[in-house]
Amino acid sequence: MFASAEAVRRSMWRYAIVNRFEYKFVINCQQRIAVKCKVEACPFYICVRGKVKMDGMYVKEFVGEHVHSVGDECMMGKWGGRRMRANLLASLIEEKVGL
Ligand SMILES: [Zn+2]
Repeated sequence: MFASAEAVRRSMWRYAIVNRFEYKFVINCQQRIAVKCKVEACPFYICVRGKVKMDGMYVKEFVGEHVHSVGDECMMGKWGGRRMRANLLASLIEEKVGL
């Protein structure tokens, strides 16, 4: 359960840093967010939806598996390895999602 779409995006960003993979938004709006791994044919997928007449978002579907090696060679791995400060990460995600 997430407080808002914004919270989902921030969590997704941190999750990708920790797990060292890159992702893309398939759907990115206030009521619905779906994220896929950037690697073609990788099953990683998460879909988060807002509840009608309620605050908050819940995870509707989640596949946490990757069919490829995740690690330092991707951009997320490099960024994660540098241990960027949390506020810097926050500004980066805002830039990325165009807030
Ligand atoms: Zn993947």
